[in-house]
Amino acid sequence: MPSTAFIGLGHMGGPMAANLVKAGVQVWGFDVVPEAMNAARRNGVNVVSDPLDAVAQAQVVLTMLPSGQHVLSAYEQSPGLLSAAQPGTIFLDCSTINISEAQQAAALAQQAGFRAADAPVSGGVVGAEAGTLAFMVGADSEVFDQVHPLLDIMGARVVHCGDNGLGQAAKICNNMILGITQIAVAEAFVLAEQLGLSDQALYDVVSRASGQCWALTTNCPVPGPVPTSPANRDYTPGFAGALMAKDLGLATNALDEQGVDAKLGRLAAAIYEDFAAGDGAGKDFSAIINTIRDNSTP
Ligand code: NAD
Repeated sequence: MPSTAFIGLGHMGGPMAANLVKAGVQVWGFDVVPEAMNAARRNGVNVVSDPLDAVAQAQVVLTMLPSGQHVLSAYEQSPGLLSAAQPGTIFLDCSTINISEAQQAAALAQQAGFRAADAPVSGGVVGAEAGTLAFMVGADSEVFDQVHPLLDIMGARVVHCGDNGLGQAAKICNNMILGITQIAVAEAFVLAEQLGLSDQALYDVVSRASGQCWALTTNCPVPGPVPTSPANRDYTPGFAGALMAKDLGLATNALDEQGVDAKLGRLAAAIYEDFAAGDGAGKDFSAIINTIRDNSTP
């Protein structure tokens, strides 16, 4: 298995790096936050105080950072990660970032003589801990084949989506569907409540009818019908409203760049931006139902 520099040991990166260590991969890790470094050290990661020391030892440089700006500046700053890598190194970014930023990051790595892949994930912190993430990979076939075994350790599903940037494209398209459908399901429950239809009756019908979807059958926004959904634990995430707002912002950027007429995608982005700016940032995104209920006039 290729030795790995792991840059960004936060909520996702910490457990992902721990799973690599458990599988016998040599992992050198770095984070700007000391607590993240301490937790990684306890999980067997060789933490280093200079990220360039991690990169110098590694065949794969995996970044799991908050945004595209973080990734680009980590690659480029002087001295950046690209300056310390060995010939043949693969730069593997698993953060969720703009498609154009992912392509820019890959181009920077390639211009410096290295190879690159974007491999954003879905599955959240629970999936990161369990090693059951889904990876959506943008890379050429040779790079995909080389990173596949590493991704298999951290994930349960690895899909080659196409060239650089197309992993991010798949992630953004999926989350645009998810944001829109979660709002649709929440609106239907509020309408049903006002019409006198019970949550359970609506669930029993729709979960076996053409309105069936993940936002209903896994992430049901009302307590009761799906006991494991965040609604049953006061909307503890799950997938936080702030992350949905971020991903829909990335989707909107892509819609604008491509000139796509996607009214629902843009509306969902605006709805989640407001939700996250209010008290929704730290709640599961299915808590949007409370905003819809509050704004409704019985
Ligand atoms: P996080 O904020 O917990 O972790 C990011 C880490 O990067 C932090 O520990 C931060 O200190 C570190 N960092 C920032 N700049 C750095 C630098 N220059 N060098 C080294 N470390 C640096 O975020 P997270 O929840 O782990 O998410 C990481 C990425 O994964 C994001 O792009 C997010 O959108 C994506 N993602 C998150 C989830 C989720 O459920 N949390 C799910 C899917 C995808």
